Amino acid sequence: MPETRTFRIAAIPADGVGAEVVASGRAVLDALAHGSDGAFAFDWAEFPWGSDYYARTGKMMADDGLEQLKDFDAIYFGAVGWPTVPDHISLWGLRLRICQNFDQWANVRPVHFLPGVTSPLRKADDIELDWVVVRENSEGEYAGLGGRNFSGRGPGGEVAVQSALFTEVGCERIIRFAFDLARTRTRRKVSSVTKSNAQQYGMVLWDDVFARVAADYPDIETESVLVDAMSAKFVLRPEDLSVVVASNLHADILSDLGSALAGSLGLAASANLNPERRFPSMFEPVHGSAPDIAGQGLANPIGAVGSAALMLEHFGLPDQAARLNKAVETVTGAGILTRDVGGTATTDQVTKALIDALNG
Ligand code: ATP
Ligand code: MG
Repeated sequence: MPETRTFRIAAIPADGVGAEVVASGRAVLDALAHGSDGAFAFDWAEFPWGSDYYARTGKMMADDGLEQLKDFDAIYFGAVGWPTVPDHISLWGLRLRICQNFDQWANVRPVHFLPGVTSPLRKADDIELDWVVVRENSEGEYAGLGGRNFSGRGPGGEVAVQSALFTEVGCERIIRFAFDLARTRTRRKVSSVTKSNAQQYGMVLWDDVFARVAADYPDIETESVLVDAMSAKFVLRPEDLSVVVASNLHADILSDLGSALAGSLGLAASANLNPERRFPSMFEPVHGSAPDIAGQGLANPIGAVGSAALMLEHFGLPDQAARLNKAVETVTGAGILTRDVGGTATTDQVTKALIDALNG
């Protein structure tokens, strides 16, 4: 009997619907491991960090939290943010702290249509939508550079500066990552997004690096598109895209647009990768804590489950990831849908249906 491969996963449900969707993803992953006849297993540790923890301790995570996380094989994250804590505190205190310290510089966000889910795109019946948005996750507009009170002019005259940081190394590694990803896909195309007509330093550096790297991948079709034009293209010519690589801010916005076009923010999965594997990578749905529906059993767990599939790929279990994605298609195709995608099923009902589909 071959030895069981055990993957140690740190679960951080954090805020709002994060708890509901992480519980769902864990149940589905455990069902998958249970059915593997001992081929692999998941060993979970759960961390109680987030906005409740902040209310008790004044911190979003333990002081030595990164030390506690660093030896896990992966982090499975829910969502962070709650109306009682300013967003920049909750985000920087937990999620971005992990992303930055564990050098998770590539954020991968697949977007595709699911059977049984209606897209707001009128053309949805006769088009394919199958993209991956690759987001630069370590610098750009979210580098945290700048400050307030630059003018010294007092109340009413305040000036704030928010700078974006682009390094040649940072641009090159994410652009290469996008090209390498495109090589694994049926449609071998990389679309680069900037706003280099209006932002003449960082964005132009990005464009220069893109052109240079593209020369190393003559087998891959390329285009450079301004972010405003790309927003329109997402809606008007979705079939024309495959891998879309963009800065931290632009890809953040475009991936929300993409998941809405696929049917709901609740469907979108993401992986924050440290491609060198020096630190754990983090897998999380794209959506936030959704205070408007939290605690009501209405959350769509598909984004979190899709993120679990990305985690399986990261563990070198692509067949298991495919099984999980297939189970998702079986369940949505059968019309077992949460309210955000037009159904009446609860989070638990979708979870149970996913487990049944895996066992079936
Ligand atoms: P963040 O700033 O963290 O990205 P946000 O303010 O953009 O968060 P979300 O919390 O993602 O907002 O919620 C946006 C909308 O999407 C809300 O109406 C919410 O109910 C809905 N939503 C988000 N996640 C889900 C989900 N898993 N299932 C159903 N609806 C969801
Ligand atoms: Mg958002």
